[in-house]
Amino acid sequence: MLNQTNLLIPESELLFSEAAQYLKVEDITLLRNAYAFGQGAHLGQFRRSGEPYIAHPIAVARILGTLRLDAPTLIAALLHDVVEDTDISKAEISERFGEAVAELVDGVSKLAKIEFQTQEEAQAENFRKMLMAMARDVRVILIKLADRLHNMRTLDAMLTEKQRSIARETLEIYAPIAHRFGLNNIYQELQELGFRYSFPLRHKVLVKATKAARGNRREVVGKILEAITLKLKEAKLDAEVTGREKHLYSIYMKMVEKHLSFSEVLDIYGFRVIVKDIPSCYVALGALHSLYKPIPGKFKDYIAIPKTNGYQSLHSTLLGPFGIPIEIQIRTVEMHQIAENGVASHWLYKSTDSDFDELHVKTSQWLQSLLETLSGSSDSLEFLEHLKFDLFPGDVFVFTPQGKILTLPRGSTAVDFAYAVHSDVGNCCVAVKINGESAPLRTKLKSGDRVEIVTAPYAKPNPSWLSYVATGRARSSIRHFLKTIQYSESVKLGERMLNQALISFNINPDSITELQWEKLLRDSGVKSKDDFLAELALGKQLPAVIAKKLVAPTESITSDWMTGPITILGNEGLTVQFAKCCRPIPDDDIIGIIKKDSGLIIHTRQCNNIPTNHRNSENFVNVAWGKDITRTFVTSIKVTAINKQGVLARIAAEIAKADSNIDDITMETENDYTHMHFILQVNDRNHLAQVLRGLRHIKDVARIKRNNE
Ligand code: MN
Repeated sequence: MLNQTNLLIPESELLFSEAAQYLKVEDITLLRNAYAFGQGAHLGQFRRSGEPYIAHPIAVARILGTLRLDAPTLIAALLHDVVEDTDISKAEISERFGEAVAELVDGVSKLAKIEFQTQEEAQAENFRKMLMAMARDVRVILIKLADRLHNMRTLDAMLTEKQRSIARETLEIYAPIAHRFGLNNIYQELQELGFRYSFPLRHKVLVKATKAARGNRREVVGKILEAITLKLKEAKLDAEVTGREKHLYSIYMKMVEKHLSFSEVLDIYGFRVIVKDIPSCYVALGALHSLYKPIPGKFKDYIAIPKTNGYQSLHSTLLGPFGIPIEIQIRTVEMHQIAENGVASHWLYKSTDSDFDELHVKTSQWLQSLLETLSGSSDSLEFLEHLKFDLFPGDVFVFTPQGKILTLPRGSTAVDFAYAVHSDVGNCCVAVKINGESAPLRTKLKSGDRVEIVTAPYAKPNPSWLSYVATGRARSSIRHFLKTIQYSESVKLGERMLNQALISFNINPDSITELQWEKLLRDSGVKSKDDFLAELALGKQLPAVIAKKLVAPTESITSDWMTGPITILGNEGLTVQFAKCCRPIPDDDIIGIIKKDSGLIIHTRQCNNIPTNHRNSENFVNVAWGKDITRTFVTSIKVTAINKQGVLARIAAEIAKADSNIDDITMETENDYTHMHFILQVNDRNHLAQVLRGLRHIKDVARIKRNNE
């Protein structure tokens, strides 16, 4: 009778009346509003089955209603496809139904966008983790699972090819997630449906075989049930006893994994006993062990040592009448709830208002209860660590162009990704495309990003990467590379500096013998000639001092400071730096200063930071620009212009016209004038002069000056 009445009530009304059993009146009103809103949004859309689209969100909300989830979850379930499939924005949902609902809908929409592509099984676990990391709120996962469950229930409407791929994804990704969260009912059903559509033929055969077998078994099951019930009554236990039918997928998996025949798998009868408290569980166990003999080695106490998802029960296999094995599960009502609904069991019967973040309170309640029940078992603790990290993610999961998933710590950048792929990729990366669009290498990655690194064979790691990489792997690879390259560059530069110093003393560098070197190394305690030259370049030793030591340790000789300058090409790498105070460019008159531990620093000779008596100091090195310089240099100029609209734009245009780039601008205003400091890229003095000429033509420019000249 009841069922017939139900058929006449629209699905939406069923949802409201089911929800009214545990939600407040105000919540039901909100739910009705969400329904009306969702129906309007999806109006004119239909499912493949021909039903109006809104039937799907209602069904999803009803599934979550059976788990007794809170009002925001049910409302979000009603609206879960609205952002993805209609014009409604997240902002509009937030305005109408609050931020919490909007966040949930947004979370589900984001999950809908990523697609599981690879066939590799190892990737499935990463993919599950990625889903959980992206979801952040456990309720997003619950909505997603309910969504998947309803889609599986209505899979008949899909094309066969599509059915198989969705079913496979369900078995590999969603069923294990449901299992991990202890959502047993959803887990079982996802598995059954996944099995049915993945292996339609095997499924059909098994359905037929079990139907036949169960018909034969009915009488036996009834007898055993009666015997068990009677025995428990004798033990004065208030117990609920049910026969358990094995699920098809678990029969199938047992046949596949344990190489058992169908009758071997099916020839086991399952019963479940639910009692009121833990002591009763053990009393019931004792009673049943006296009824039928237990099979040795088959008893498992999951009450004392729960399974990793919090599952608790006593399991025992008994030898029943006619020698049939009987599997028994004994648990309390509370354990049964957790066994069926896992993480969702903490939403049960709780609808009190709370100022706390509900998600965190409830999830940590679950974690806490797991911690208590699992204490003492070490792999369980490890599981919990994983779970925490899944729910409150510390990692991001990103795709390679091949669809492989890489796990990186939160805050990782494109450079970290490049080094995670391979150190050669890291060392040669020049650019990155994230989700098909160019982005700076320093961009922080988000879960679900598809990352493609662009490399160039000549490229080298940039020291500035060290300021933003997040992984130890990237950091140490960059350091290692810089160190190696810096060393070889330093050795070369050190040799040039020493040769120059020798020449300034009128000594031919080729005349220095191995013996002279050996003595120098012995005296200074440095291991090799290369090490010594590298130290020289880094300013730890002074070339003039060493030149003297090499040739005439005691004699005092005077040098001709100006002889044999070291040529600078700008490709010396990290060992030669250009001073930021004067920013020298080719054709500038330059001078080198050896700075302890940093190496050779090039200034313009006019620079205010250069003392005038430099010729007498051993820290100074004679340097000159080489020919054939191919790179650009940065220099800084100060432009003073009248405060007028559009001046900066005209200046920038002139700079561009002269083929120069602006690296940086800072400005300060003084009365009617603005002082603009530009850092420009130029080839040499000639190029700079060309830029300045262009700027002088601008009417409102009052003064132009190169800085520190
Ligand atoms: Mn959906």
